[in-house]
Amino acid sequence: MKDAAVVALDVGGTGMKCALVRPDGTVHHAERHPTRAERGPEAVIGTILDVAEGLAQRARDDGLDPIAAGVAVPGVIDEANGIAVWSSNVGFRDVPLRDLVADRLGLPAALGHDVRVGGVAEARLAAGRGHSHVLFMAIGTGIAAALVVHGVGYGGAHGAAGEVGHIVVRPGGNPCGCGARGCLEAHASARSIGRRYAELSGHPGATAFDVVTRAGQGDQLAATVWREAIGTLADGLVICQGLYDVNALVIGGGLAEARDALLDPLREAVRERLTFQRMPDIVRAELGDNAGCIGAALLALDHLEKKTP
Ligand SMILES: [Zn+2]
Repeated sequence: MKDAAVVALDVGGTGMKCALVRPDGTVHHAERHPTRAERGPEAVIGTILDVAEGLAQRARDDGLDPIAAGVAVPGVIDEANGIAVWSSNVGFRDVPLRDLVADRLGLPAALGHDVRVGGVAEARLAAGRGHSHVLFMAIGTGIAAALVVHGVGYGGAHGAAGEVGHIVVRPGGNPCGCGARGCLEAHASARSIGRRYAELSGHPGATAFDVVTRAGQGDQLAATVWREAIGTLADGLVICQGLYDVNALVIGGGLAEARDALLDPLREAVRERLTFQRMPDIVRAELGDNAGCIGAALLALDHLEKKTP
């Protein structure tokens, strides 16, 4: 019997991470394509279908048996019906993406939320392994999270759970893209940290990476901006821990590239703030950019299992 592979796509606002994933979660082949969302949703859907078909063919060429397809997108996802309800940065509104992919490939398909499936992959196979209750938090341009309990992602009643980036931690604070003020992501996302330092230092275009690098080199202003951001993040995490009581908090996204410069002070700041809540393990995500693809494949396999009696 030929080895099986799952066609997996993680579609973001700027790029699509695409892979052939084996049932054990290892990646056989990976490729990237630009999303070019400015072309409009029809064209983006066309690219997704073409890329998925190409991957299925690649699997066959490599002697593998493509058995399913999994697609992850950001925004609000109706996973049960396979519909991308609303993905502003990809331009999707009520797109029945699961069935479109299934029809084109002639394979069973599944559609999931990018951060949620990424969280499932980290919880089952990587940084959250061995923990029953995992909160995966992706901190990049924005901040989003996924609660994973015993390996299953929690989507909420409307497929919109995990929007912890919009918890208000600084009432009356920075304006946020969602329309509110003082949201966690308006103060502590990688973008917000870079912007804050740029404003104060007069270095336009400074990134969070610049901030943590300069803080390490003794730049007092950078150190202050970084410390404040850690404090804000810790405020958000303590709220999450009060809500979810997890045993592992897995930090991913671009900001996690700061590694111990982020995790060490963050653990300390969370510990200082906890009163009666239990301290979770705070660890760095292990799958990096591949989490969404691997998670999309796991979701497709889960759906496959459910259908097989
Ligand atoms: Zn917000």
